[in-house]
Amino acid sequence: MELIDLSSEIFVGMQVHPSQPAVAIDQWNDHTQKVTFGSTVHSAASLRLSMGDHTGTHVDAPLHFDPAPGAASIELLPLERFFCQGLCLDLSHIPLRHAVSPQELAEAVSRTGEPLSAGDAVLLYMATNIRLRGTPGYETDFPGLAPDAVHWLADTGVNLFGVEAMSPAPAGELNLLAHMICAERGITHIECLDNLERLVGRGHFTFIGFPLKIRGGTAGPMRAVAMFE
Ligand SMILES: [Zn+2]
Repeated sequence: MELIDLSSEIFVGMQVHPSQPAVAIDQWNDHTQKVTFGSTVHSAASLRLSMGDHTGTHVDAPLHFDPAPGAASIELLPLERFFCQGLCLDLSHIPLRHAVSPQELAEAVSRTGEPLSAGDAVLLYMATNIRLRGTPGYETDFPGLAPDAVHWLADTGVNLFGVEAMSPAPAGELNLLAHMICAERGITHIECLDNLERLVGRGHFTFIGFPLKIRGGTAGPMRAVAMFE
């Protein structure tokens, strides 16, 4: 069995979506603070975290993009949605800021040599991290899906899709539209994935990525993993 870590690291100073708070991590306890219980002297290290729920690799809950009353928050989504077959599409050739069309998705599926199946997690490798991460363009210049490409994915019955960027579609109106289509079609997406290049050309795998169980959460940070048997 081989496990490939698809999550990005969470740390102070990491790039987050401009709508989200910066990550703050401070030492809450450390081993210089000794506590005596009877004859036992003890110390424990721990941190305090402050961050948005859309920090690092995470999945958006319908509550984030669907204003309808009753749209689900993250802890209400069934775990089955985050444990499924996955397939990674190689879209690394597309230009920055490009909106991927349904035809480009279909061509990328055919290059895998395997069919896209209902219930799959479709991970879209657009070489976003390698081209943009650590630069100001990471917030603005990422490629993503055209609105009809989001519909195309929903039509195939995919479970969810995932991207490396902080947004599923190019910044601005296209990104707003992609979120609205996810709400309309009852699908969701993972953002800020990493290491997708390690999945290219390897066909289907088992996708595992359970979001944190945050009550009322609009998203859930996750440790996403691809498993090859
Ligand atoms: Zn998000």
